[in-house]
Amino acid sequence: MLMTSETPLLKSAALVMKFGGTSVGTSAAMQQVINIVKTEKEHWRDVIVVTSALSGVTDALLDMIYKGVKGQIGNLEDRATELAHRHFEIADTLISDHATHQVIKKEINDIMTQVLDLCKAIAILGETTPRVQDTIASAGERMCIRLLSAALQSAGIAAEPVEATRLIRTDDCYTDAHPDLNKTKKLIRAVLIPLLKKGKTPVITGFIAAAENGSVTTLGRGGSDYSAALIGASLPADDVWIYTDVNGVMTADPRLVHNATTVPVCSYREIAELAYYGAKVLHPKTIRPVIEAGIGLRVCNTFNPAHPGTRLVSELKARNGVIKAITTIRGLQLVTLEGRGMLGVPGVAARTFDAVAQLGTSVPLITQASSEQSICFAVPTESTQAVIATLTTAFAPEIKSRDIDRVWATDEVGIVTVVGEGMRSIPGVSGRIFTALGNKNVNVIAIAQGSSEVSISLVVAADYIQQALQVLHELILNAVPAV
Ligand code: ADP
Ligand code: ASP
Ligand code: MG
Repeated sequence: MLMTSETPLLKSAALVMKFGGTSVGTSAAMQQVINIVKTEKEHWRDVIVVTSALSGVTDALLDMIYKGVKGQIGNLEDRATELAHRHFEIADTLISDHATHQVIKKEINDIMTQVLDLCKAIAILGETTPRVQDTIASAGERMCIRLLSAALQSAGIAAEPVEATRLIRTDDCYTDAHPDLNKTKKLIRAVLIPLLKKGKTPVITGFIAAAENGSVTTLGRGGSDYSAALIGASLPADDVWIYTDVNGVMTADPRLVHNATTVPVCSYREIAELAYYGAKVLHPKTIRPVIEAGIGLRVCNTFNPAHPGTRLVSELKARNGVIKAITTIRGLQLVTLEGRGMLGVPGVAARTFDAVAQLGTSVPLITQASSEQSICFAVPTESTQAVIATLTTAFAPEIKSRDIDRVWATDEVGIVTVVGEGMRSIPGVSGRIFTALGNKNVNVIAIAQGSSEVSISLVVAADYIQQALQVLHELILNAVPAV
């Protein structure tokens, strides 16, 4: 909001704050969230909270399904009790009112009893469906909003839990559902605006939504960021702040590169490339709704709220040659389809990717030699054999006639992606990248340039990923500071 001397000092209008799993994972962390919400309530007229499940809870729920399918039901009850108890411990510390405390414990118990019943049914059937999986996976966020709302109420904030099944309408692509933006916008406004008018602070489940028939869907792993963006864009809010466990978007994953530093300002194009190529800090779908609504986006640290974190902006004046950040995707193999007769085979690329898409396999990177004698693309290691089998069938006639010689896969590789608006001056940047890698004997197997020209992706053997990360990160640290 632009302030002038005539502007009365009003509170800014609406802020959506999204807290990730570690931010709500313990009573100390949740206390920190309460403090942050309290502080921001002083600066904003409306505060809307979106939360993930407690850290590790979604993984644990999905593992219970897996164990059910395998018929390993021995300790399912213990695991359900353990999950409920993690929530009870926080309730014991942060909910002061006895009656509320009892109600919340009962609600959490009921949710986990439903999960347990479903897992037992899965064990009897020996199989599950994506729809049942989403119902079970949604339990983490459903428990968390009840707990966090009650804890905020104990701290004097008029919080109200809201399940996003009432707000986000999707198709029925369970486990990775796509929202109907028009319906979602109407629902969000119809449910949240009256609550905000009453002075309430909605505490909303991230990750989950509902299909037209009312069944629970989820927006994909890590999808709570996307939920926050959809809510922020629909209201619309002024800003969406993604609170996580590191100081914003960093030059590399700080778990892998110990001297990674915060990137203070990042363009939407840069963060989109980073998110797509594996930087878990922001779900890749978060960006579009925020850009389209023209609202602000910031990534910041629950455990260091005074740190400014990273501001995401639509346009950045790039400094030529500046690399901002590096990211990796591991656990891939490169599949190559090659043959001297390929040039004459109609629609090779379309047929290849159509066959791979039929398997539901994601392809994070494609390279094609301009001679059109080979197509090479990356797939997750666990899909490689199925991909080779499918392509061998799809191109059986061409393999028989020797137009295609073979379909084969490399050993395990990873993609290391270098991101920065300054990458547009490719010659200088790629020169520095390849010199640095060559000096450390890191062999680059394949290269692809991101479509938005703000990234270069390099494929390297699995054993060299860590070294490639370190070497390229040095290029960032030794460069003039990026804006
Ligand atoms: P949350 O539960 O808050 O959504 P996530 O685990 O999904 O948190 O994402 C935060 C994590 O992303 C960090 O702890 C960090 O290890 C990882 N990460 C990967 N790449 C980056 C990066 N470039 N900048 C910051 N964090 C990153
Ligand atoms: N709890 C969900 C997950 O673990 C969603 C999220 O954390 O954003 O994938
Ligand atoms: Mg996340």
